[in-house]
Amino acid sequence: MSLRDRIAGDLEGDLQDKPGQSAIDRLLALSLSERTGTLAWRVLWVLDGACLDPLISALAGEAEVSRELAEMAVHEAMSQDCLTCRGRATLMLGDRKLDCQACLATGKRRYSDRARAAYLRVSLKAYRQQAGRFKKVSALLSAYEMAVAPEMRERLK
Ligand SMILES: [Zn+2]
Repeated sequence: MSLRDRIAGDLEGDLQDKPGQSAIDRLLALSLSERTGTLAWRVLWVLDGACLDPLISALAGEAEVSRELAEMAVHEAMSQDCLTCRGRATLMLGDRKLDCQACLATGKRRYSDRARAAYLRVSLKAYRQQAGRFKKVSALLSAYEMAVAPEMRERLK
């Protein structure tokens, strides 16, 4: 669903009673999330370094997690390709095509809890205590990526 559709849907939703939330509040929240989505687009697709810190701050604020967790989510999103098959999911052995075992033929790089703990410079146990929060901010960033991509492609036409 495009951001425009989401905004339209949310404004329609305002025609029904929603205690404690005015249309202005919801519009403000949507414009903030559109800003975060735009920042995500600029960092992940345009590789605009100037947007990196604002994106990390916005994600940390919205997901209510530390900046370190938000930064790790952005870094993982920037290097999603499996290092073995370079994102192709398969390996060529002569004329034989084999599924990449490193990524289980997904093409996606898999990050272990141990690698994440090392990135954060904390113990494995300390990382696992915040793994739920990391998943939350990582899922938020993915949602922005998916929401913004069609809208941005439309604008770039
Ligand atoms: Zn692979």
